[in-house]
Amino acid sequence: MTPALTWSVVELRLKRVFTIARGSRSVVPTVIVRVTADGVTGFGEASPLARYGESVESVAGFLGSVAGEIGGDPSDTDGMLDRIDRLGTGNASARAALDIALHDWAGKRLGVPLWKHFGITAPDAPPTSMTIGIDTPSGVVGKVLEAEAFGVLKVKMGVPGDRELVEAVRSVTSKPLRVDANEGWNTREEALGHLRWLEGVGVELVEQPLPAGRADDVAWLRERSGIPLYADEDLRGYADLAGIARAYDGVNVKLMKCGGLRQARKIIAAARSLGLKVMIGCMIETSVGISAAAQIAPLADVTDLDGSLLVDNDPFVGAVAGDGTIALGQRPGIGVAEAPR
Ligand code: MG
Repeated sequence: MTPALTWSVVELRLKRVFTIARGSRSVVPTVIVRVTADGVTGFGEASPLARYGESVESVAGFLGSVAGEIGGDPSDTDGMLDRIDRLGTGNASARAALDIALHDWAGKRLGVPLWKHFGITAPDAPPTSMTIGIDTPSGVVGKVLEAEAFGVLKVKMGVPGDRELVEAVRSVTSKPLRVDANEGWNTREEALGHLRWLEGVGVELVEQPLPAGRADDVAWLRERSGIPLYADEDLRGYADLAGIARAYDGVNVKLMKCGGLRQARKIIAAARSLGLKVMIGCMIETSVGISAAAQIAPLADVTDLDGSLLVDNDPFVGAVAGDGTIALGQRPGIGVAEAPR
């Protein structure tokens, strides 16, 4: 039976206003995709990437334009993804939604969780960090206290006065910290000053210290600082990896950036071959996108899969628990269920 593709927009309400170097949000639209065949429904999700010009409209437009490629044998995941890829590039989050839904369908059809389907032998994943968004110092302290259950925190920087935010975090916790500058430091000298200071307060890694496309400057930083540097905005796809390996110590792989599980697994394997560390990250997503990423989290050194925990009206329940534990059980596919209303 040929699969039916449908999708719907869901407005996600955040528990708190979420601020990073690029701006603030309190409501985040996402697109939930369903692929149904033989009485089985696979769920997928596209959280549109505003930084790359995506929107719920562009996601819907892309889904409509490729819907005809979802057909034939519903278990031929690769065949359908190949046909979609041949139509062109771009629309990474919409591609991710289709990739996730087709994989979820296949896993459910077989009755196996995707981690097992992908050949991962032990479902042990590093617990996720909880992100502390940009706020006033007292607001940051409140967020750190709320995040008591989490063993590691990721602090957003990249705005003027951002060291005060890390000082505020450190005033109430000695937990391991990671920092994400989100391209917010402008010069390599400014970034180096921050990295040297962060070494003194016990930070285990820093994401995207400079705007994307500045690999020479990041390599310059790496020669002078001991903190591992991870590429996030600098990594969109497989083709970026060689340049990244020259400059960075690790990569933040997100399904929404790279177009889904198939590409993410390929990127992780290539990153490993280049000696890069691997973080699996996310956007603000429901438990659909997060639980899909969680299926490959055992392949990562560190995870940042807290996106659904920031949402007040997640329509699904999935793999990441409220204390940051990633629980990959035996539920088939991506392992999500619709939340009770
Ligand atoms: Mg990041």
